[in-house]
Amino acid sequence: MAEETMSTNFIHSIIEEELQPGGRCEGKQVHTRFPPEPNGYLHIGHCKALTIDFGTAEKYQGICNLRMDDTNPAKEDTEYVEAIQEDIHWLGFDWADRFYYGSDYFEKTYQLALDLIRKGLAYVCELTPEEFRAYRGDTNTPAKSPWRDRPMEESLDLFQRMRQGEFPEGKYTLRAKIDLASGNFNMRDPALYRIRYIEHHRQGTKWCIFPMYDFAHPIQDALEGITHSLCSLEYENHRPLYDWVVEHCDLPSKPRQIEFARLGINYTVLSKRKLRALVEEGRVAGWDDPRMPTLCGLRRRGYTPKSIRNFCERIGVSKVDSTVDWAFLESCLREDLNETAQRVMAVLRPVKLTITNYPEGQSETVTVENNPVDPAAGEREVPFSRHLYIEADDFMETPIPKYKRLVPGGQECRLKGAYLIRCTGCVKDENGQVVEVLCEYDPDSRGGNPADGRKVKGATIHWVEADTAADAEVRLYDSLFTDPAPDGPEKNFLDCLNPDSLQILTGCKVEKGLAEAAMPQPGKTATAYQFMRQGYFCLDNQDASPDHLVFNRSVSLKDSFKKK
Ligand code: ATP
Ligand code: MG
Repeated sequence: MAEETMSTNFIHSIIEEELQPGGRCEGKQVHTRFPPEPNGYLHIGHCKALTIDFGTAEKYQGICNLRMDDTNPAKEDTEYVEAIQEDIHWLGFDWADRFYYGSDYFEKTYQLALDLIRKGLAYVCELTPEEFRAYRGDTNTPAKSPWRDRPMEESLDLFQRMRQGEFPEGKYTLRAKIDLASGNFNMRDPALYRIRYIEHHRQGTKWCIFPMYDFAHPIQDALEGITHSLCSLEYENHRPLYDWVVEHCDLPSKPRQIEFARLGINYTVLSKRKLRALVEEGRVAGWDDPRMPTLCGLRRRGYTPKSIRNFCERIGVSKVDSTVDWAFLESCLREDLNETAQRVMAVLRPVKLTITNYPEGQSETVTVENNPVDPAAGEREVPFSRHLYIEADDFMETPIPKYKRLVPGGQECRLKGAYLIRCTGCVKDENGQVVEVLCEYDPDSRGGNPADGRKVKGATIHWVEADTAADAEVRLYDSLFTDPAPDGPEKNFLDCLNPDSLQILTGCKVEKGLAEAAMPQPGKTATAYQFMRQGYFCLDNQDASPDHLVFNRSVSLKDSFKKK
């Protein structure tokens, strides 16, 4: 992507300096990694990290590994592992054959821990988790551990027996011997290993001790030859420990950690734990519910990889956390679909329109442009007859001021691509509901242009021919939360859900061609359409079938957030 290679940020500046003669990376290939924890589906926040990890490698003709960070044995699942790979490929990034699991390094990590003990840089501590916390100290008081000076041989023996499963959970930890008085609490002899009797999704019950993230991650990076370990800001305080591990373990390379600000977006939550809660509590239809900020949700909603990559590129990379407007994400989609989406006509809230001076039984086709923004998209033929459907709100018996659409005896309107019409009246049912709008057309205005060149004052309205129209269900989405900051302090995000985030319309009428289109596959992007005057839509990749069309509104034509 040209845009991507052009733009620059503070990470690029650091890398360019390091690639200079005499720099840390002189003559080296830039090598990054993306390390998702397979405990949920990827969300738009991860896209920022993906764009930084893969995009930076791309920019410097480097490589990027995909590593499942399954060091922590809880809640990991092959379902997530597969979904993560599918989503990254969908975005257009590729790790070639460099796919790894953090857990593959358990043996090596264990050996490095033994080395640290032998060097006098780690010890087995016997504080209970409660004591551990109580002895942490504060800014003025150092932490303490009575086990700090345990003889090396004793720690070595205990650690090996921890591994053999001789002790219960919580009985012992392995701690790095760094500095109990450090102003950075992560350096106050942090735990390196814990005992846990839990089955690992890949290692089974082979291990009952597990390395902590802060110990495992730098080791994994170094073993893979990562030059730049790019991660979000919450790891900044952990960097001294990262560097300590790289420095004191016998490792083949010395990676450097650089942090960037996490992406936050208003009106949504970007935490797998919270997203999982929405799924598990049935508040949404699944991880791929089109209201979810997950990649599979956005894809089902109709987001394109290009729109998401543009978004990540444009929000930039900085060291300061900020919240981006959801409306900005939508505008990136709108911009992409404006160029690519085929324009079609669909009536969401239909009422019949009868052209009383058009002969019964006669029909013809009119020509409409597929995409005025892209002349190469061409034109298509659309059936036209005496009986059409139009939007119910394109007719008003008693118009409001400035109403430019159909009114009995009112101004002339244009049926998109077809003819000029004048409304003559309507038919109502016993409840006074309008069930049919009546009008007359000007036979000399084929294509929508009057033969005498007179000016048409009314609006251009869209329509669908009644006999050939296909029925459809249309799902309109609004933001998932009514609160712009649902995961703000002292809020329960579940209380901030928008009860009207999904509106389902049935009995909508769409051009017959849409019913004949191929149905989208799960995991794939569905073809985008612009429903004239309505927004961008796509077939739902889970629920649509040839005899039950289901469309999702991907995004409206204009920014609806401005109104809020
Ligand atoms: P979550 O809170 O959603 O569970 P996480 O950080 O635990 O997030 P990981 O699977 O560990 O999720 O994330 C993989 C990578 O993606 C990490 O490098 C992490 O920093 C990055 N990442 C996660 N969320 C965001 C975000 N909102 N913005 C930028 N990067 C993110
Ligand atoms: Mg994480």
